[in-house]
Amino acid sequence: MYSNAPGCRACGSTGCVEILAFGEMPLSDGLLSEAELERHEHRFPLTVVFCPDCSLVQIRETVDPGILFGADYPYFSSFSDAWLRHCRENALELMETRQMGPSSLVIEIASNDGYLLRNYVERIIPALGIDPAPGPAAAAREAGIEVRQEFFGRALAESLAAEGTRADVIHANNVLAHVADLPGIVDGIRILLKDDGVAVIEAPYVRDLIDHCEFDTIYHEHLCYFSVTAVSRLFSAHGLTLVDVRRLPTHGGSLRMYVQRAGTPSAAVGALLAEERSLGLDRAEYYEDFASRVREVQKSLNQLLGSLKAEGKRIAGYAAAAKGTILLNSADIDGRFLDYVVDRNRHKHGKYMPGVRLPIYETAKLLEAPAPDYLLLLAWNFKDEIMRQQQEFRDRGGRFIIPIPTPQIAA
Ligand SMILES: [Zn+2]
Repeated sequence: MYSNAPGCRACGSTGCVEILAFGEMPLSDGLLSEAELERHEHRFPLTVVFCPDCSLVQIRETVDPGILFGADYPYFSSFSDAWLRHCRENALELMETRQMGPSSLVIEIASNDGYLLRNYVERIIPALGIDPAPGPAAAAREAGIEVRQEFFGRALAESLAAEGTRADVIHANNVLAHVADLPGIVDGIRILLKDDGVAVIEAPYVRDLIDHCEFDTIYHEHLCYFSVTAVSRLFSAHGLTLVDVRRLPTHGGSLRMYVQRAGTPSAAVGALLAEERSLGLDRAEYYEDFASRVREVQKSLNQLLGSLKAEGKRIAGYAAAAKGTILLNSADIDGRFLDYVVDRNRHKHGKYMPGVRLPIYETAKLLEAPAPDYLLLLAWNFKDEIMRQQQEFRDRGGRFIIPIPTPQIAA
């Protein structure tokens, strides 16, 4: 069901040191059906460690991917407008700078429902998606995208390359952290890239996670938490070069990394490496007070909600997101505090949040009596978008609680 990684996921070192232990947590995306409420629910330890040898922050436990990403995996990328816009702009920029056309090939690892590749297909640029999840893969095919419904790794890359399939551009958004065989996915990217091809990889930036106390972005699906130092070492160990990097505001702070088979790192790469060295991201001391800061946030959120309940207020949660599972369970926030959770994704309606077992409804529920007085934003990374969408809730006197980095009621 789960195993502990025998050593560092990138370099194999056995000297990893513990940063934060959550204890046992439910699977963050394991939304429960009515029938599943009767059955035993999986819980696994969740422990964050740091590798002093290559600087990679990672969790110790690997849950069997069959359990993690089974047939019910509910994540459809196309449910956030801001994320779709972000991806579209990225695709358009690459088509332009790389002068892509009908003879080019773009491949996306974890292509989900085709949210990104559809931008290429619209412009008649050949696109291949790779994704093991049947629901999202079917949605991508409906959008006219060819999909290989498999887990990506060295073996699949080798068989594609043997068929003559190599890419001008490879996208890998928020997937590098999800793969237990990290060396395998990096080798796979090298194998699939044309000699002058580029892989564009986005992943949450561990520096933002630590600095802004985004502990709820840590869950069993997220095996690794990258710094520029750690990724640049990882890529060079596998014959790739990190040629450019940008910091992005998405998902609480991410990196967009440009990786090629050969090339020279840009000034931006050098600058971020120097910043990380001076901040100490490559040393265990940087992570030392993280656990106590996390416990402080959990405690103060629990107290804030407790005092609102004592005043007779009604509270609901917004977004049945993975990070919501971790936030609610780790801060011990259940039906004593929240009446329910709402989400725009219809695939989640009628289900229950893992662990705390709060029911999930459509967002229209917020306007039904008895309406909540407060809405706890579990998907705080989309807070501006959500607050705009819920203007009517606000107009009726509803208020928002932002949990991270410090729990507060939005002005
Ligand atoms: Zn390591």
